Amino acid sequence: MPLAIALATAATLAVFVAFPLLAPDTEGDQLLPVDVTPLADFKRRRMVVYENLQDLEFEFKAGKIAREDYQTLSDNYKAEAAGLMAASLEAETTSHGDAWIESEVAARRARRKSAPSPQYLCPECGFENPLPVKFCGECGAKLASRP
Ligand SMILES: [Zn+2]
Repeated sequence: MPLAIALATAATLAVFVAFPLLAPDTEGDQLLPVDVTPLADFKRRRMVVYENLQDLEFEFKAGKIAREDYQTLSDNYKAEAAGLMAASLEAETTSHGDAWIESEVAARRARRKSAPSPQYLCPECGFENPLPVKFCGECGAKLASRP
C-alpha cells in the first residue's frame, strides 16, 4: 500500500511539474499584468521552482518519496530553473540593448537642443531638419555648407 501512495504522489507531482510545459506559451503572455516585466516574471517563476525543489528535498528526507522519483522530479525542477535562468539572462540583455538605444537617442536630442547645427536649421523658414542636409526639407532654401 505505501508503494501505491508513493506512486500516486509521484504521478500527481509529475502532472504538476509538466503542466506549465504543456500549456501554450501565448496564454501565459496574455495573462501577464501590464506592470510585470518578462524579467520579473522569470525571476518569480524561478523562485517558485526553487521552493518546489526545497519541498521535494524535505519530503525525500522525510522518507515520503522514493529515491528514484525524487531524482526524476529534482532533475525536472533543475532543468526548469536552468531554462528560466537562461530566459531571464536573455531578457536582461535585450532590455540593456533597449536602454542603450534610449540613452543614445536622449544624448542626440540633448546635443541637438543645446546647439542647433546650421546643417539642421533652416535660416529662411526656421525648420529644423532631422538630418544634416544641404537644402531645407521644408522650403528648399540652401543651408550652411558643412565645415
Ligand atoms: Zn526652410
